[in-house]
Amino acid sequence: MRIDVLTIFPEMFKGFLSESIIKRAIEKGNLEVNLHDFREFSLNKHFKVDDTPYGGGQGMVLKIEPIYACLKSIDNHEKALKILMSPQGEVFKQQKAAELSKIDHLIILCGHYEGFDERIRSLVDVEISIGDYVLTGGELGSMIIIDSVSRLLGGVLGNELSHMHDSFSNGLLEGPQYTRPVEFEGMKVPDILLSGHHKNIEEYRKFESMKRTFLRRPDLLSELNESDELILESVRKSLDLEK
Ligand code: SAH
Repeated sequence: MRIDVLTIFPEMFKGFLSESIIKRAIEKGNLEVNLHDFREFSLNKHFKVDDTPYGGGQGMVLKIEPIYACLKSIDNHEKALKILMSPQGEVFKQQKAAELSKIDHLIILCGHYEGFDERIRSLVDVEISIGDYVLTGGELGSMIIIDSVSRLLGGVLGNELSHMHDSFSNGLLEGPQYTRPVEFEGMKVPDILLSGHHKNIEEYRKFESMKRTFLRRPDLLSELNESDELILESVRKSLDLEK
């Protein structure tokens, strides 16, 4: 997958792109990330990319011309899916990450300052927000998108199937996980995980995943199939018994 990012702060991406899984994905050729500083496309001799808002008001607004010119300079930009980072956009979820991971070429545009000239919206296909809060710029948000999308690409995670059990992938939160030691300060690993009985372990994991989701994010449980409804019912019963 290829991702082009338009940003006036490309240095912010350095650590992110040069560590761990993302670094390896780039080295292996599963992921290509190109950073474009649209300041270089400013028509202004001082390389200004922002200006005061028409009608008055606080802060500075990103101008359209440098962003337009930068976008047009990217090869194959017509075919790419163009994303604008914006707190006013569609809120980013795992399902969107999965959708984006199937696309060959993304272009992500990072805003900054007070926002951007409204006409910049006409240059993109989709606006994405990473949550209901306001950041100083779109850079961190774009890294979140790149990170979550990359781990869904074939060959990026060591184990191809490991993200299938991640929280949200199947509509539920992931249940508790344990590793050595078997006991720490009186806290023990549940016996069933040590039993070697795969079917029971699978059932236990599903139950715990359902229980965790029910307790922490009941909003995720609106569309359950019949067998999951039964598991949820037994979760409810077990919690009633604990009371
Ligand atoms: N005045 C604007 C916010 C500007 S914040 C408004 O009220 O909508 C500056 C830039 O940071 C935005 O243009 C956007 O690119 C980025 N940004 C801020 N918060 C964000 C969020 N929650 N999700 C995605 N991008 C965000």
